[in-house]
Amino acid sequence: MNIVLLGIQGSGKGTLVQDLENHFDFSLVSVGLLLREEIASHSALGNKIKELVDKGLLVDLDIVMNVINKKLSTSKKPIIIFDGFPRNAEQADKLDEICNIDLVIYLNLRKEIAIDRVLNRLTCKDCGDITTLKGNEDYTCKLCGGKLYRRSDDTVDAIHTRFEQYEEETYPLIERYRRRGVLVEIDASKTPSEVLVDVMKVIKL
Ligand SMILES: [Zn+2]
Repeated sequence: MNIVLLGIQGSGKGTLVQDLENHFDFSLVSVGLLLREEIASHSALGNKIKELVDKGLLVDLDIVMNVINKKLSTSKKPIIIFDGFPRNAEQADKLDEICNIDLVIYLNLRKEIAIDRVLNRLTCKDCGDITTLKGNEDYTCKLCGGKLYRRSDDTVDAIHTRFEQYEEETYPLIERYRRRGVLVEIDASKTPSEVLVDVMKVIKL
């Protein structure tokens, strides 16, 4: 079963993926992660990717499809979850060429709530835990005592730009999958555990 996860930043995709790992056996296709793995493997392809990344260039779609293909052909898991891919129509076309998407889970969250979540998000310098400003006004990690900080790209302007780009590119995808009858919309304004319950209801094996 091939599942695509769609959701704006702040919609809780990362948390959901972590929670799903306790319930399902799946391979995660996260393009950033796959590219980093390929670089670490020192393969010819990995070296080419490193060259592009070092120059600050975008990794082109053919290379991205190459690493995705590799992952799909070696995965023995019953479920594949695509996280953050496809992002636009061109990527969705390419994905259609290599596999059948059975389910698209769209974590729907109002832009205002998403912005509020991202602005109130703090990350621990030491253990990487992600938490909220509320209840952590002393900027100290409750797990390890490390210092909490706000990501430098989480400014109001940067968030608005990212969200505009997201709407422009991803909304057509939502419509595309809706027309195809594979889209399930989940209310992402609920708590992570409520979202997990809703998502588990739609992933049937
Ligand atoms: Zn910590």
